[in-house]
Amino acid sequence: MKAAAEASPTAALIRYFEIWALRLNGFFPDFTRCSSCGKGVINEGFFAWVESGEARCADCAGDIGIHVSAKSASALEKMMKLPPEKFMILPFEHDAASELEKFAQRLLGFNLERQLKSWPLLREALQN
Ligand SMILES: [Zn+2]
Repeated sequence: MKAAAEASPTAALIRYFEIWALRLNGFFPDFTRCSSCGKGVINEGFFAWVESGEARCADCAGDIGIHVSAKSASALEKMMKLPPEKFMILPFEHDAASELEKFAQRLLGFNLERQLKSWPLLREALQN
């Protein structure tokens, strides 16, 4: 059997900085535990509810939310704990990399939209 395709170290670094940029801006909630039953979800993956910033385990999610596989959840955990130069030399499967890219885009899209919507209100408030 052929080994799973690995993402390049450059792709790993880009994913790393995307997630950290979200985190440092307060756009990356704690996705390590199920918000409903409290179970840790890193080992089995989770369903992310982007709008409420919650993670749910497969039992509690009822298939709602963005599925983040066990591989991706484990990569996320490593991103949180390791400096970039250590993360980029770890095995990082292409599937997990592309799943995390979509996840980061959803988080960014949701948070930017929310900020843009609040902009007219903010401007109005400043003019009064
Ligand atoms: Zn649960």
